[in-house]
Amino acid sequence: MPSRPNVLIIGGGIGGLFAANALTAQGLRVSVHEQASALGEIGAGVFVTPNAVRHLERVRLGAAVEKWGARVGPGSCYLRHDGTAIAPVQVSDASGWNATFGMHRADFIDLLAAKLSAGIVQTGHRAVGFEQDDDVARVTFANGATAEADVVIAADGIHSELRPHVFPPSKPVFHGTICYRGLVPRERLPGWPMDRWQMWAGPSRHFLVFPVRHGTMVNYVGFVPADEEMKESWSAPGDPAVLRREFEGWDPRIGQVLEQVDKTFRWALYDREPLPTWTRGRLTLLGDAAHPMLPHLGQGANQAIEDGMALATILARVDTAAVPAALLAYERLRRERVAQIQLGARQNGLRLDSTATDLGARDAQLAAHAEFRRQLYSYDVMPAARAAAAGLT
Ligand SMILES: Cc1cc2nc3c(=O)[nH]c(=O)nc-3n(C[C@H](O)[C@H](O)[C@H](O)COP(=O)(O)OP(=O)(O)OC[C@H]3O[C@@H](n4cnc5c(N)ncnc54)[C@H](O)[C@@H]3O)c2cc1C
Repeated sequence: MPSRPNVLIIGGGIGGLFAANALTAQGLRVSVHEQASALGEIGAGVFVTPNAVRHLERVRLGAAVEKWGARVGPGSCYLRHDGTAIAPVQVSDASGWNATFGMHRADFIDLLAAKLSAGIVQTGHRAVGFEQDDDVARVTFANGATAEADVVIAADGIHSELRPHVFPPSKPVFHGTICYRGLVPRERLPGWPMDRWQMWAGPSRHFLVFPVRHGTMVNYVGFVPADEEMKESWSAPGDPAVLRREFEGWDPRIGQVLEQVDKTFRWALYDREPLPTWTRGRLTLLGDAAHPMLPHLGQGANQAIEDGMALATILARVDTAAVPAALLAYERLRRERVAQIQLGARQNGLRLDSTATDLGARDAQLAAHAEFRRQLYSYDVMPAARAAAAGLT
């Protein structure tokens, strides 16, 4: 009798934990191995959009997203650095579904982990080795443990330890941008609109604000140029006074937020070229391990969620013998879409930081960008994944 594949996920970030939810919802056996001694995330926000929220709903996490998220609505907008309005920001899909939420990252990790049965997530397990044969894949951990499965999903982020087992190693490229991020309690910003996402654009830098944690906190991100290279994905405490100077002379509303900042963190932005392949045998990559992208479309985590739903949909429909073909089908389904979004994020970053003297053309592009977002948000990976799986059986 054909047997259903069991799955080992390396990495308990948003991507790995969502994939675990999607796979268990399909009745597959899963374990998640995370290097840290406890699950967690930094004190900053993440923007979750309809193309991912539809999958969160499918694994019965819609109510938790509503509870912990802060829905942003049609008041969301792009502004020039002086506060002049440029254009509304698209927050709904083509059907008008406004499922766009600001989330505190720690809340997001908590709600994804809370749905998994005890024992699925094993912390303190840093993957350091991988091998496979025709029958099984095997991961070894720094603590001396080993684990075997029919499928290994490396969801271990931009520094992925397992990525060199599917593609020759390469270094991510520093993008020349640092971002400052942090949170401000709502009561310290009386009158701040908690129903919208606002982005002040250029020159050479941009500033983003959106609400999180059911509108009780405001998340800010200031993107500034930097020639100093920081270790990628590495956060360092930043100086709030330096951050305030970076945005001196901008819209006084930004000053209102920055006056309340007494702690901030700096992040270096890194990029990678799209990979031509990210699967080998029983091992595949997911999320930032496969396709890290600049944050200028707010899609890294959303695309990791699409990856997880695609993989779960395909793996649920095959037996263990078909695993290598199933993983290649997942990769084929995802590669082109994420490559387009990686490119789109780069282009949007150039618009947001434009130094053009006549900003009219840039503003028109930002206004026209609503259509790109509408299509991005309307995409549903599940029917395509079902069709891909049907081609395997
Ligand atoms: C400034 C900024 C703003 C952003 N804003 C948004 C946004 O609004 N919306 C959005 O969708 N995306 C956004 N992103 C991108 C998003 O944060 C990432 O794409 C997403 O978190 C990737 O999730 P992941 O699970 O693939 O990787 P990660 O979050 O990096 O998780 C990887 C996990 O694997 C673990 N790990 C690593 N190595 C090992 C190992 N060897 N063994 C075991 N475990 C290991 C790590 O500890 C970690 O828990 C933003 C990024 C930045 C930098």
